[in-house]
Amino acid sequence: MRSLQWQKNWCKSTNLPIHYKYTNICIFVEICNFVDKMNIRTNDTIMMLIGKDKGKTGKILQVLPKSGKAVVEGLNLVKRHQRPKKQGQKGEIISRPRPIDISNVMLICRHCKKPSRMGMRREGKKVFRVCKRCRGEN
Ligand SMILES: [Zn+2]
Repeated sequence: MRSLQWQKNWCKSTNLPIHYKYTNICIFVEICNFVDKMNIRTNDTIMMLIGKDKGKTGKILQVLPKSGKAVVEGLNLVKRHQRPKKQGQKGEIISRPRPIDISNVMLICRHCKKPSRMGMRREGKKVFRVCKRCRGEN
């Protein structure tokens, strides 16, 4: 087996080293929750860009930085048939959201309420997300 090459880079958010192993994701995500391509956090509102839920919006319930995905409330639902576990219990169909690749979603700006790309602005140690449409902080 070929050994993995580790490239060092610096996280724009924490200023700590990032290891590029599979994706461009900061290994200190627990601290900074920063995903290189697009930094989204829980409770952000996003818009789906592709698929059957295209154009729909939803709130982020969970960010999965290792796989570069996010679980969005009410989007990319899959129906799962659950068998009755105990006797007398009924089997049921539950809809659960499946993780969406973060490249397929776009953050909706808090100020202009439009899906927009985000830039980064640094002030000392703090990093702000700045909307590229209205220059508002998010
Ligand atoms: Zn904006």
